[in-house]
Amino acid sequence: MTQGGAGAEPVCPQCSSSAVVAIQIVEHESCGAIKPAAEFQTDDGMHCPDCDVPIDDVTTISDESAGVCEDCRHTFKIDRGSSNSDVSQRREPAVVRKDVRSQLRSTSPSPSRTLQVAVVMSLIALLVSATILAPIIPSLRDGEIETGSEPIAPPTETQPERSVSGTGTWVDYQSIVIFRNDDVQPNYRSETRRAVDSVFIEENVPVTQGIIPAIDNEGLPDEFCRSLRKQARAHPDTFEYALHGYSHEERTDFQGGSELGGLPTERQETLIREGTAALQACLQQTPTTFIPPFDNYDNATSTALADEGYAALSGGTWFTETYYNETGPFERNGIRHLPASRSFVRNWTTNEFYAQSRLKASFDDAYRDGEVYVQTLHYPTFTTESRRDRLRGLINHMQSRDGVTFMTVGEFAYKYERGEIKQTDDGWQVLESTDDGMSQPQIQTVKRGPRIIGQWGKADA
Ligand SMILES: [Zn+2]
Ligand SMILES: [Zn+2]
Ligand SMILES: [Zn+2]
Repeated sequence: MTQGGAGAEPVCPQCSSSAVVAIQIVEHESCGAIKPAAEFQTDDGMHCPDCDVPIDDVTTISDESAGVCEDCRHTFKIDRGSSNSDVSQRREPAVVRKDVRSQLRSTSPSPSRTLQVAVVMSLIALLVSATILAPIIPSLRDGEIETGSEPIAPPTETQPERSVSGTGTWVDYQSIVIFRNDDVQPNYRSETRRAVDSVFIEENVPVTQGIIPAIDNEGLPDEFCRSLRKQARAHPDTFEYALHGYSHEERTDFQGGSELGGLPTERQETLIREGTAALQACLQQTPTTFIPPFDNYDNATSTALADEGYAALSGGTWFTETYYNETGPFERNGIRHLPASRSFVRNWTTNEFYAQSRLKASFDDAYRDGEVYVQTLHYPTFTTESRRDRLRGLINHMQSRDGVTFMTVGEFAYKYERGEIKQTDDGWQVLESTDDGMSQPQIQTVKRGPRIIGQWGKADA
């Protein structure tokens, strides 16, 4: 598809898709909640997320001033009178607690109705206008894509250099599936979070949980941390806890909006160090996996993560394909990259999921090609039992195929680094423990000190 001219239907300035929908901002007048319309929609009808009651109607505040691309999630300003603006922000609007209303409150404690609308409109303008942001963001690095990168080392070329450690049996698999649950945070749809966790426990499938350590720039509450530690003790083979950025804010317009990508190296190092310390204190264990908010990062991010002792990071395939020209697991800047597929969510405005047939077909493609398949989900979008049945259905579909094994991002990186995972012509070999009653731990602790990059078959870091 090509970008349309004046008067044509809007197309996405990033991927040229015409699957563009307008973002609608609405208000629940009795409580003053102002949010994207999608946040009020559930399978059981309209429901206000702030005052937690079923409601009949909401008031439209703006319409068609911004659009979101259903194919790549790009959010941008729609200008029907001319060509699309190419300044934009990619957002995950529905799943992070921070919303338009809280920004409103910090802007103006008790605005009049007219002022409120004006502030909302200018917030929308800010969201879609990177030209305003650009002058205050130093040293954007979009143009320095290959800086500091290294030659690609496909797993098949590095096998002879690896040695097998431990004892066990080599088992052949056609595909390795990894689930990644993003935006785990305190005080936000906690019942839904526990219900999604239960799906993984009941289906006996491991999952990497991406925890935001400083949402709203606040620390993680003790009660939340206690519940995670209790969960880790009760289900040590099910949950890996990963660091999901710092405060999950867009700090640059790198790749359509990023928390870390494009920031100066020292700032990235500080955010990663502080986020890691917060999660360490909360979990009383050290995370070895990093999930960048908005699925993107740059070379400085991956180098800083490797220096901090991280073994793996998982962004989006759409991002690694353009930035690194890679779609499968690969190693760069001293850290393993495991790019993930799209989330369940097709439309971030309405929280509509992709058709189940499409989610299954996406896995089936990876299965046919003998690939690692990383499936992203965002727990806050699984608000009803029928939505959680979609997750369960996809898991059961994967389980119904021969030669599929499930692991966490951390377990994949841990085993790969030790030569306990090997890529074969048509799939993967995994060294599995044969001890009765013993299983491989899903959660690994990083040994501090220099990483032995040579084990990954790299000449240098
Ligand atoms: Zn797009
Ligand atoms: Zn309300
Ligand atoms: Zn996120």
